[in-house]
Amino acid sequence: MGAKIIDGKALAARVKESVKKEVEKLKGEGVSPGLAVILVGEDPASQIYVRSKHRSCEELGIKSFQYHLPEKTTQDELVELVNTLNSHLEVSGILVQLPLPEHLDAEAIIETIRPEKDVDGFHPINQGRLLAGLPGMLPCTPAGVMELIRESGTQVQGKECVVVGRSNIVGKPQALLLLQQHGTVTVCHSRTTDLGAVTKRADILVAAVGKERLITREMVKPGAVVIDVGTNRRADGKLVGDVDFEGVSQVAGAITPVPGGVGPMTIAMLMKNTLETAVVLAGRKH
Ligand code: NDP
Repeated sequence: MGAKIIDGKALAARVKESVKKEVEKLKGEGVSPGLAVILVGEDPASQIYVRSKHRSCEELGIKSFQYHLPEKTTQDELVELVNTLNSHLEVSGILVQLPLPEHLDAEAIIETIRPEKDVDGFHPINQGRLLAGLPGMLPCTPAGVMELIRESGTQVQGKECVVVGRSNIVGKPQALLLLQQHGTVTVCHSRTTDLGAVTKRADILVAAVGKERLITREMVKPGAVVIDVGTNRRADGKLVGDVDFEGVSQVAGAITPVPGGVGPMTIAMLMKNTLETAVVLAGRKH
């Protein structure tokens, strides 16, 4: 029996369509969302991500401000730009494309972003609000994963949920979002002793590691919902996830493909967050 494929591309298109309508409506009320994206250096993958964010903004009628700074940009110069954008009236959302070159302190930069403009949801204030269950900007990838789970038709409440990976931008917030929806959550990482034994318990399994074929068929419970966040670029340029799609789709109940799963949803949620920043800054929501 084959798993249902959760179509992230189609879901992302629907999310974007509804954001587009909201943007139009908001503009009619004199409020315009604007997204500033800062890219430092020449990382080719980052350049692709930044371009696709810009394209999405254009599609949705969101003003896009692009800042491509040289590799040798200093911490002070970057902080100064973020501060300028913090008070820029047309910029409701600010995103600093990660990873930054090694000489820059990414955490310190993120902390300078005004939390209301933090479209990535990486600012400690927004992370803290998520931990406390308070409203705030949610990180785009984990928020997109929650939509993909919903799309699969599975309720999180009462389910065994396993998240593989514990980064601040994916694994940890993912675990908190699943907990918020009343899942029973386990988080695995590189020191987990028997990964397969833990993942096999999962009704909902989220893999966010960055290792091709880490999750194989025998590690997955029959019927489980499997969400593959991983993006691994093979030598031939092909993009693959952390999950052995061929094998796992034989046992899972539903699975996201790579590409076409979490990736498009991340961008869609970024657009949704940008809309949200404009709404919050205009005082329409607290
Ligand atoms: P990090 O490298 O920050 O975190 C990876 C996590 O995986 C760590 O917690 C690490 O554990 C854990 N890990 C490493 N090896 C193993 C192992 N053998 N078994 C179990 N856990 C392991 O990555 P990110 O969280 O930033 O990203 C994860 C993946 O998701 C990457 O492939 C990234 O490209 C992708 N990604 C995709 C996005 C999208 O839009 N599709 C967006 C963001 C990320 P430990 O903490 O112990 O080191």
